Amino acid sequence: MNESSIKQCLPSHGPARRRNSVGVKVGNIVVGGGAPIVVQSMTNTDTADVRGTVEQVAALARAGSELVRITVNNAEAAAAVPVIREQLDRRGVNVPLVGDFHFNGHRLLAQHPACAEALAKLRINPGNVGKGSKRDEQFATMIEFACRLNKPVRIGVNWGSLDQELLARLMDENGRLAQPKDAAVVMREALVTSALDSARQAEALGLAHDRILLSCKVSGVQDLIAVYRDLATRCDYPLHLGLTEAGMGSKGIVASTAAMAVLLQEGIGDTIRVSLTPEPNGDRTREVIVAQEMLQTMGLRSFAPLVIACPGCGRTTSTVFQELANRIQGYLREQMPQWRGRYPGVEDMHVAVMGCVVNGPGESKQANIGISLPGSGENPVAPVFVDGVKTVTLKGDNIAEEFQRIVDQYVRDRYSPGSAAAQSAALAP
Ligand code: SF4
Repeated sequence: MNESSIKQCLPSHGPARRRNSVGVKVGNIVVGGGAPIVVQSMTNTDTADVRGTVEQVAALARAGSELVRITVNNAEAAAAVPVIREQLDRRGVNVPLVGDFHFNGHRLLAQHPACAEALAKLRINPGNVGKGSKRDEQFATMIEFACRLNKPVRIGVNWGSLDQELLARLMDENGRLAQPKDAAVVMREALVTSALDSARQAEALGLAHDRILLSCKVSGVQDLIAVYRDLATRCDYPLHLGLTEAGMGSKGIVASTAAMAVLLQEGIGDTIRVSLTPEPNGDRTREVIVAQEMLQTMGLRSFAPLVIACPGCGRTTSTVFQELANRIQGYLREQMPQWRGRYPGVEDMHVAVMGCVVNGPGESKQANIGISLPGSGENPVAPVFVDGVKTVTLKGDNIAEEFQRIVDQYVRDRYSPGSAAAQSAALAP
């Protein structure tokens, strides 16, 4: 086998070219049109609780959410939206807010004009805007508000609230075919048709093509992949990806990642949300971190330095190594709000924390900075590697503090404006 045939056998690295979509401006953020994939999230506070909602939006924004959606489900929530916006602005949190409207959105927008003004985008679920003849009328009212205020709209179809009249019509048509399709295929077609028909209707009502985004959320991984592949070939609207009702804990993370990674790898998806069910009193920002980690581990965007840690094994008999990996990971993430502006390019840094001499030095040399802790039976010393070169060997009780200081020094030296890494980050597209 010659060199060129070996190269042909190797998998290609990096995701395929992104699908061409129209760019839509949402407040100060662009979604689609080749812009970096946007991370978004949604609050779970009662929107009428201004204080609680402001706190949670600020926390989500601090974690890196670039858009935050809030539900606007009743008059109290609609009245609270402009107050929430004002309080966020006063705190310097300028993350765009998206209003989630369902059954009564047409009335709330009419009765609370300041609510629509304060929002950067409206989300309309075409399956939940009314039934029969009321559906078109109420949908039109909401689109007219968006046109008048020049707000973009996400037409967000959801499998759990799919337009039942449309589904029944497509099922009937399918039943009359000589060879009817599987019911799941018809359901998926109904989701895509609902989104595309509603977008066409919105454009006919005067909403500009570049003020529309689409989503078609389902809770099954294979269904999500099939629906978005189809949607991606049938329109150029930017697509919001998300697996709805993904679930709790690792199940929610795995299911969301399994579905979205396939699509992102194919260049499909302009903004993502990971819909995790938090533990009672759990941290809502988890969904933001998971979304960022998904994009960063796929090489699509960088948000915070990556910590590479080995899984540990029988050679690590103490918890020192897990504690150090955890401590460094938490520390790096905590520093990012300040570091982001001060040290350009720091989000691309790799830090290795390894458990023993087997893979420790090798992996540490590959990272920007790495430490190889002693495994059981090894000398109680921890060599530190900086840019592939062993610079110091730590020992004693303060290894964690000393390593953190070395990381801090590295960040200052390497990423301060004027350094080589900062200049190359500034030149990056
Ligand atoms: S580097 Fe050492 S401790 Fe970590 S998994 Fe490999 S053998 Fe185990």
